[in-house]
Amino acid sequence: MDCIFCKIVQGEIPSKIVYEDDAVLAFDDINPEAPVHVLVIPKKHIASFNELTAQDGELLVKIMESIQRIAILKKVDQSGYRIVNNCGADGGQTVGHLHFHIMGGREMLWPAG
Ligand code: 5GP
Ligand code: ZN
Repeated sequence: MDCIFCKIVQGEIPSKIVYEDDAVLAFDDINPEAPVHVLVIPKKHIASFNELTAQDGELLVKIMESIQRIAILKKVDQSGYRIVNNCGADGGQTVGHLHFHIMGGREMLWPAG
């Protein structure tokens, strides 16, 4: 499958890994929009938020816990941060492998454009 995030999981494309466990990988975004901009992905290929099911409950808890850990590692847990999932074309999704953006280190604007 031609998926850049699967290739990052396989180590075929290098990335700056921030956190990793058996099910989750997190790495710095290549084009950061904020001083802290980390992508958190499931290691298994899930195309988008639309494809999540109740079977992924354990995985989602791991993603949630990894986000909390990354916020501490990146020292934005107290200052605050934003978690974003872009789903589909209008959502602005450009990579077809589920990912959550963690953004912080500056005040994030709201509403997003
Ligand atoms: P989306 O627009 O799908 O929500 O977010 C995709 C994100 O992946 C973008 O913020 C983009 O900068 C990032 N990205 C795309 N290709 C790569 C890559 O090869 N390495 C890393 N680290 N980030 C990437
Ligand atoms: Zn993939």
